[in-house]
Amino acid sequence: MELQNLITFSMNKQFELELQSVIEKYPDLSIRKKTDGSGYLKGILNIPDDLGRIAGSFSIEIHSTSTFPYRYPKVYEVGGDIPIEADWHKYDDNSCCLTVEQKELIDCHYGIILIHFVEKIVIPYFANQIYRKATGHYLNEYPHGLYGIKMFYSDLFGSHDINFWKTCVINCFTKGKFERNHKCYCGSGKKFKHCHLPIEEKLQMLGKEKVMNDLKRIFLL
Ligand SMILES: [Zn+2]
Repeated sequence: MELQNLITFSMNKQFELELQSVIEKYPDLSIRKKTDGSGYLKGILNIPDDLGRIAGSFSIEIHSTSTFPYRYPKVYEVGGDIPIEADWHKYDDNSCCLTVEQKELIDCHYGIILIHFVEKIVIPYFANQIYRKATGHYLNEYPHGLYGIKMFYSDLFGSHDINFWKTCVINCFTKGKFERNHKCYCGSGKKFKHCHLPIEEKLQMLGKEKVMNDLKRIFLL
């Protein structure tokens, strides 16, 4: 009985339920079982180019974590096509560094769906690897460490101006917020609800403490 409990505990129900939907669409992946009975995906993931032709193929595994769907599952590139170097966004256990933690937290705020994860996160990651192999540099990536986090926030705020970030953060975490139908404080001329309100909602997902802490570290760069 104890063992059975342990097995049930280690399985992530939602992940298990969603495996089938992925292999139906990606038949070169299959469901494998670990010794504890939990499932994971293993096989070939074909990466399409803009015209839908296969631009490259990678031998991968996708494993559940206890935090799925509120964090990404783990992706491993096991074919050795990507060098194990931080610079290539792959760690020594073959796991892939998919993006900065902040983006992951926002993506997973309402729980991520496995097939969407494969299509919106995993395939673009490998497409980026193909691009880098061909050109020597990534099309878009967040570098490791604080510079990557800074780039993430620059993209999120739509501005490199750190003083503007402060305005946005203060408004976001202050009570009696900006009125939805007012022209946005950024000066775009658009209504707040169509401009920086959605950005503030993402900041809310990260939480005041995390945002303030990140920005403090960035300001010291
Ligand atoms: Zn705005």
